[in-house]
Amino acid sequence: MIPEHISTILNLKSDFPILNQTHQTGNPLTYLDSAASSQMPTIVIEAVNDYHRRYHANVHRGIHQLSELATEGYELARKKVKGFINAKSKREIIFTKGTTEGINLVAQSWGRANLKEGDVVLLSQMEHHSNIIPYQMLAQEKGFTVRFIPITATGEIDLVVYQQLLADNPVKLVGVTHCSNVLGTINPITEMARLAHEYGAIIVVDGAQSTPHMPVDMQALDVDFFAFSGHKMCAPTGVGVLYGKQALLEAMPPFLGGGSMINEVTWDGFTPAELPAKFEAGTPNIAQAIGLGYAIDYLQAIGIENIHQHVQTVTTYALDQLRQVPSIQIYGDSPSRGGVIAFTLGNIHAHDLSQALDFEGIAVRSGHHCAQPLHRLLGVSATTRASFYLYTTSDDIDRLVQALNKTVQFFKG
Ligand code: PMP
Repeated sequence: MIPEHISTILNLKSDFPILNQTHQTGNPLTYLDSAASSQMPTIVIEAVNDYHRRYHANVHRGIHQLSELATEGYELARKKVKGFINAKSKREIIFTKGTTEGINLVAQSWGRANLKEGDVVLLSQMEHHSNIIPYQMLAQEKGFTVRFIPITATGEIDLVVYQQLLADNPVKLVGVTHCSNVLGTINPITEMARLAHEYGAIIVVDGAQSTPHMPVDMQALDVDFFAFSGHKMCAPTGVGVLYGKQALLEAMPPFLGGGSMINEVTWDGFTPAELPAKFEAGTPNIAQAIGLGYAIDYLQAIGIENIHQHVQTVTTYALDQLRQVPSIQIYGDSPSRGGVIAFTLGNIHAHDLSQALDFEGIAVRSGHHCAQPLHRLLGVSATTRASFYLYTTSDDIDRLVQALNKTVQFFKG
């Protein structure tokens, strides 16, 4: 059991209607796939419903009551995001569809304007495809080089080689994840940003796995761009955020063209709108953004530090228990880690394993987790990943461990 002296364990399942149901097997539903998408508390579900029932209308356009209420709700959500990540201005908060869109925006706008043949984009070996492919796509066209910072045996970024790569190459952009969705490693972003800036590069951070779990402070991190997704932090799918330093965003060309992002349009051309509208072409995901604002209220009411502590405690407990399962191999051994654990179990295929766990009512994820190059480096084609959040309890972990032991026995026999 979790040691009694640890008082940071939260008990929040009753806030999440989806978690209070029985799996079709008759077992309790054990949801260990929050790194893919977290669940939504009642307060968020109701806020989204309330918008649809009471003030659904397009934002920023109509001078009528519903449109004004919708605009107020949407802009209030932006203000909440600004506070949550400690940005300097609401203009630095661009609503997107999610992390993937945020990084593509940086690549297509900043990258297209600033990267050329001879330049280097430096990524890490633990990146999600969404932090690799946008640069590979642009590199094919522009002729710059994409290089990768190696990781150590414990699954941490090799900071010595990072500095060497910065010193030896004309690096214009460093792209790195704050927290790996496979290894769990939390990367030293403040230090990496300082080094990137020292060598004249900008730094773009994938915050998909960190923002839901720990304080992310744009002033303390001093990063240039930071992208994250609502659906991993108790909000609906379809909304995410790209933070960018105002001076950079102001100098960048628009990414998508269309309604809302212009000042003036003539037959001959257009002038772009001010920030953040310049980067929000078309009708945004209004309900989802409002939901994100309420999710932030919820996370802040519990305290993001408390959530971090809770997930740390649950993860430590899970690591201790999982290490006792015969033939398990856990990937990633950084002392600084978030709430994901990827593993293999003997030669049981990861997909068979998640199927076996689903028979016990346990939801995990199997595959390459959109990190194929990393899996190739680890020497496996697929892993099974259990991931935790503020509603995960020690009972959930116990059920996972029990089911894994049962599966080992089954495949033995
Ligand atoms: N980066 C990381 C580290 C992720 O875990 C994910 C989600 N799997 C993404 C980026 C992409 O997020 P989204 O699908 O919400 O754009």
